[in-house]
Parts: sequence; C-alpha cells; structure tokens
Amino acid sequence: MSDCLFCKIAAGEIPSDTLYEDELCYAFSDIAPQAPSHFLVIPKSHIASVSQIDRNNSALVAHIFEVIAKLTAEKGIGSYRVVSNIGEQAGQSVPHLHFHVLGGRDMTWPPG
Ligand code: 5GP
Ligand code: ZN
Repeated sequence: MSDCLFCKIAAGEIPSDTLYEDELCYAFSDIAPQAPSHFLVIPKSHIASVSQIDRNNSALVAHIFEVIAKLTAEKGIGSYRVVSNIGEQAGQSVPHLHFHVLGGRDMTWPPG
C-alpha cells in the first residue's frame, strides 16, 4: 500500500535497522524500544492486522513465527514476549500487521 509506513520500511524506502529479510518478511529494530531487545517482524505484503489473517495468508504468519524463533535463538534471547496490537483501543498505531518481540527484562502480567 503506497501510503503505509511499514510497506515503505519493508521496501527500503524508509531506512530501518535490518535484522532479517527474506522474500516474505522483514525484521527490524523498533525505533522506540520498550525493552533491551525490541524488534518487529512484518510481512512484506500489506495485511492490516491479525484481524485480517485467513486461510489465504496464514502460512505467511506461520513463517513469521519461524523467523521469530530463529532470530531469538541466534540472539540468545531465551525468554521473550510476542505481542500484536489490533485496533486503536489495544494500542495499534501502525495499520500493517506486525509482531513485537520484546525481551531482556522482567515482564509483568497482565499487560497494561
Ligand atoms: P503498534 O503501536 O502499532 O503496536 O506498534 C508500532 C511500533 O512501530 C511502535 O512500537 C513504534 O515505536 C514503531 N515505529 C513507528 N514508526 C517507526 C519507524 O519509522 N521506524 C521503526 N523502526 N519503528 C517505528
Ligand atoms: Zn503496509
């Protein structure tokens, strides 16, 4: 989508700190980290949020989780949280599917 921030980041049109990339997804450091390790994994194709996952794109989401497992293992992050905010009330500020990966500090539950 032409006016989507994360589509532009995935396409390299807006610079970001690349952690991993393949034909399907892109991982990069969050610009405002909320934990010692905080990165985002996004599909390269535009999907608005988890609410838009269906049988046609769910394999892509499974692939993203494989990438999360690989990246955290490579970085030695053994305990972490994967978060995806859906909609404004839950705190979604960028309407392109993304999974936050947060680690390196104690976490509280429930989330705020
Ligand atoms: P959300 O609020 O939608 O769950 O998450 C969006 C995330 O994107 C936030 O954690 C925010 O810090 C991050 N973010 C917003 N704009 C940029 C940007 O231009 N570059 C990077 N690397 N992260 C961004
Ligand atoms: Zn997008």
